[in-house]
Amino acid sequence: MLRNCINNIGRVFYVTLFLIASSLPIKSSSALAAWSLKSDGVLLIRTKSYANLESFFQKGDGSVGDRLWIDFEGELTNPRTIKGNGLIKEIRLGKPYIGVTRLVIEFKEDIKINPLEWKIVGLDENTWQLKLKTLPKDSFQTIGEGYINRPIENTLNKNDLDIVQAEFEDLPVVPRNKFLVVLDPGHGGLDVGAIGIEGLRETDVVLEVSLMVAELLRERGVEVKLTRTTDINVELSERVRIANKTDADIFVSIHANASHGKKREINGLETFYYSGWRGKLLAELIQTEILRVSPGSPDRGFKKGRYYVIKNTDMPAVLVEIGFLTGKLDARRLEKEIHRKRLAYAITKGILEYFLRAG
Ligand SMILES: [Zn+2]
Repeated sequence: MLRNCINNIGRVFYVTLFLIASSLPIKSSSALAAWSLKSDGVLLIRTKSYANLESFFQKGDGSVGDRLWIDFEGELTNPRTIKGNGLIKEIRLGKPYIGVTRLVIEFKEDIKINPLEWKIVGLDENTWQLKLKTLPKDSFQTIGEGYINRPIENTLNKNDLDIVQAEFEDLPVVPRNKFLVVLDPGHGGLDVGAIGIEGLRETDVVLEVSLMVAELLRERGVEVKLTRTTDINVELSERVRIANKTDADIFVSIHANASHGKKREINGLETFYYSGWRGKLLAELIQTEILRVSPGSPDRGFKKGRYYVIKNTDMPAVLVEIGFLTGKLDARRLEKEIHRKRLAYAITKGILEYFLRAG
């Protein structure tokens, strides 16, 4: 019997699948970077960013034990078998067909496994977790290859801008000195906005992202005006006044979300516009780009909203919600500088794309 045990995490996989299908050639190096099956029954996997994986389970037939396997795109250079211990018979890393890496965990013949509650969960853009819940405790010793928690932050601190820049090397080119954007980092000062997991504050996150967007746009010859550049409060009417006294082409307000009751399972991104095809187009383009860098996070859509700053500004205006600070998945990402940089690039790309189309 073949049983796919990832059905209940469809969303994570949909988004990821789409990204990979559109960005990686069939034949590439294996997306699997490290794995560790720990003695507490937790399988941790590190992959390339935004990898797609699929997992399967097959009951043994007496001569072969129960098997769990996970397929990744890209090929291994050296297929291999690693001897197991306890109830794990062996672990195989193979190349079942062109362009695919398969990690197989085979249990001993006399072990009966119930995988119904198993599911793979994406922890961030390159780490995955599968809890083998029904295994008896301490029934084997940890086995693995590579480092799951590569000191990514340290590496990234030196190079993260380069990494993100490489991901976005195709930022659209627009005529220089032609466009003016008003960027509006939400909240500020005593109005800290949403407060998320680990105390992450909306005011800080959106200011940092906004400042990065401003820098990126300026590098590309777009003039930028910000409604605030430090942690101060600016009245909504003042934000609108700042925008309306310029002849800005667009107004982009940047926020992060919080759910009522701080529900950790609520995550997602959304972009609002107030009226007009230009506002709608800008919202759609930004929403598309921010979703691309937030795999697994729900698409809450680009839609009409009646927020004060987008309702009262004279130019096409949008309000972007870059994720839920109270959501488990989004908060984990938003607290990382590299993700905030990716979001800044994504918003910038959406804006530049808009100028190309609507300019
Ligand atoms: Zn807000």
